[in-house]
Amino acid sequence: MSFRNKLASWLGLSKRSDYVNKYFYMTNMKASIYMSVVVISLELWMIIRMIRTIFEKNLQDKIESLIESYFSNYFLLFSAGVLMLLFAVRALYNVRKTRWISVLVIAMCSAVAVFEITMLSKYSESSKDSADLFNYIILLLSSLIMIVFSVILIIGRSEKEWHSLFVMYVFSFCCINFGIIMSVHSFEKGDQILTFLTMELFVICLLVWRPWLGFLVLSASYAVFYYRLSGIVDISTVARVDGIIDLNTAEIGLGDGIKINGFTMWLSTLLLCISNYNKTMSQAVKDEDLEKMNSHLSDISVHDELTGIHNMVHFRGEAEKLLSYVTTDRSNSVFLFMDIENFKSYNGKYGFTEGNELLIKVARIIREQFKGSLVSRFSDDHFVVMTTLDDCKEKVAEVSRQIHELQREVHLELKCGAYKPSDDETDPSAACDRARFACNSIKKRYNTSFQMYDKTLEEKFRLKQYIVNNIDTAIANDYIKVFYQPIVDTATGCICGLEALARWKDPTYGLLPPGMFIDTLEEYRQIHKLDQCIIEIVCRDYSAAAANGECFVPVSLNFSRLDFELYDVPGFLEKMIGKYKMPRKYIDVEITESALTDQNDLLSNTVEKLRNAGYKVWLDDFGSGYSSLNVLKDYQFDVLKIDMKFLSGFGSNNKAAPILKNIVDLTRQLKMISLTEGVETQEQYEFLRSIGCEKVQGYLFSKPCPKEELNEKILSGKLSVAEEYITAAK
Ligand code: C2E
Ligand code: MG
Ligand code: MG
Repeated sequence: MSFRNKLASWLGLSKRSDYVNKYFYMTNMKASIYMSVVVISLELWMIIRMIRTIFEKNLQDKIESLIESYFSNYFLLFSAGVLMLLFAVRALYNVRKTRWISVLVIAMCSAVAVFEITMLSKYSESSKDSADLFNYIILLLSSLIMIVFSVILIIGRSEKEWHSLFVMYVFSFCCINFGIIMSVHSFEKGDQILTFLTMELFVICLLVWRPWLGFLVLSASYAVFYYRLSGIVDISTVARVDGIIDLNTAEIGLGDGIKINGFTMWLSTLLLCISNYNKTMSQAVKDEDLEKMNSHLSDISVHDELTGIHNMVHFRGEAEKLLSYVTTDRSNSVFLFMDIENFKSYNGKYGFTEGNELLIKVARIIREQFKGSLVSRFSDDHFVVMTTLDDCKEKVAEVSRQIHELQREVHLELKCGAYKPSDDETDPSAACDRARFACNSIKKRYNTSFQMYDKTLEEKFRLKQYIVNNIDTAIANDYIKVFYQPIVDTATGCICGLEALARWKDPTYGLLPPGMFIDTLEEYRQIHKLDQCIIEIVCRDYSAAAANGECFVPVSLNFSRLDFELYDVPGFLEKMIGKYKMPRKYIDVEITESALTDQNDLLSNTVEKLRNAGYKVWLDDFGSGYSSLNVLKDYQFDVLKIDMKFLSGFGSNNKAAPILKNIVDLTRQLKMISLTEGVETQEQYEFLRSIGCEKVQGYLFSKPCPKEELNEKILSGKLSVAEEYITAAK
């Protein structure tokens, strides 16, 4: 801040914000309450005292005393105090009932006005000086102004801020004027000028003035006061006071002592005024900053920072209110959950900035289409709307059309799930979950962008809820089973490994395949519970086989991408093999290709850690995703499991064979072992053997089955185990 600006702000010349102005206004109104209460009490006391003394005199003296006792000053100041109090209370607490008290102000001010008019009319006959004339006019004007404002208060419905401020100025003026009149009178009688000083301190220090205005008010009042004093100084009167009269009064006019004291007093009051102003100012600025911060915080707590539409918190609160209103037509309400398919790819291709711009545009489109409805962004590319059922499908179609227009090379597709709340539904979260479930059910379904939540979905949804809520019970009650599927060595035709595949044997739902619970457990980040359970069962099975002298072949375990985030996989494996005394070579780690699509340091470090520890790491489902070859470039694996999709067209699609051959060749060149899954026919098996695929897995040999069933197959000779594992068991 430049020196000029600093000076301007110090003197109160700089522009203030509305907040700071309001802060000063409220501070002054509060101070006005204290001031007016003190003034009212004092003046009331003075008036009572005055009336008592007057009543003790005879009529002639009574009238003279009345004039002599400055009753109009007391009345006026008392009225100003009352009026100020009424306005301040009105400004601070919005109390309007008390406004009738201003009738009292009107009455008193009218009396003062009449008296001043009488005095003015008599003025030419009397021998008073010009100061009195000035007084009469000031008192008359003040009383008239107060009458006007009392009327405004009584009839006015729209009192403005400036009304209260104006009353405050009038009140301050009356206080100072009263101080001057009383102190001039006291000085005349040789008394102290305390009233003037008190009033100055009162007005300048209790209220907060802009320093330049404070300076003007102070200087003007001091100037008037000294002018009045210098006009009335009379040595003979003053001489009665004390011996140091010479210092205080000179032969002519005021003495240096009074001037010096007066100047010191003026200066001190002015400095107090400036300091008061600056203190209030800094407090106001601090409060304003705090207020801004709070309003920003409360704003971002209900708004989505990126798109500016409401966020999930606000949506949930408002939707809950809407659901609780009896006036809400539930039969015509619907929750829509929208998701933009391929948004991730768009983000990946064009970067976050462009991705964010797309989201802002989508938010705008949705808001436009669903004007008047509850629209929000929950997260990423997920938007939720609570609207009416009528034409929601058409609106979604329009949003979808406009989103298509935004797409570039990456195909964008809107997916929307809709859920109609039941009559007694009050929880918006449950409604949103169902709409989302409906939305997810049409993912990857080309050209379908709208799905109503129906009975079939309800059943699936319930199963999903059941899985999330019961995974712990299922583990504790041994509902989780391991089915083993043999892996066959093409060189010998013998089992050289087993894949451990999870099954959930549920008392209510029966035998659940992993396709029914893996995705849900991953979505709710519970998958590690299942995988840890599978690892332990496999280790236990090894330990039992070892104890019984049975043969055991290496088992490959499936890991989800989340496992590597949710727990220390190498650490857990170490703990398990330690507990069950299982050699590391009996465990292989399968990581599905889709888990490795982007470069992930944590995952690549863990893969290395596992390989260094002595585990074999397999790449599962190779060729099922979009970036299979990149995965091969970025990570090192021991075994490449070729996805069963490559075999599905075998026989009918003549491209399948050369593709498979090339993958097997590539695997060899990259020094990995190839394994093809999904082998169902002898023809497929023969082909794979002919191209040098080292291992195979599929229904041709065995479906996944419990270990007892597998043992029976081995005992019956249907399957044979590689020699090395039979000898290892011996
Ligand atoms: P995956 O790891 O690729 O497992 C192979 C899947 O293919 C198994 O399905 C298996 O039954 C099936 N399969 C094997 N041979 C054939 C065949 O010749 N023809 C056909 N049509 N299918 C065959 P499953 O057991 O239903 O497992 C599905 C997927 O679930 C697995 O795919 C794996 O990704 C996942 N999964 C299974 N168990 C676990 C587990 O314990 N943890 C984790 N994280 N995922 C698991
Ligand atoms: Mg697998
Ligand atoms: Mg697989």
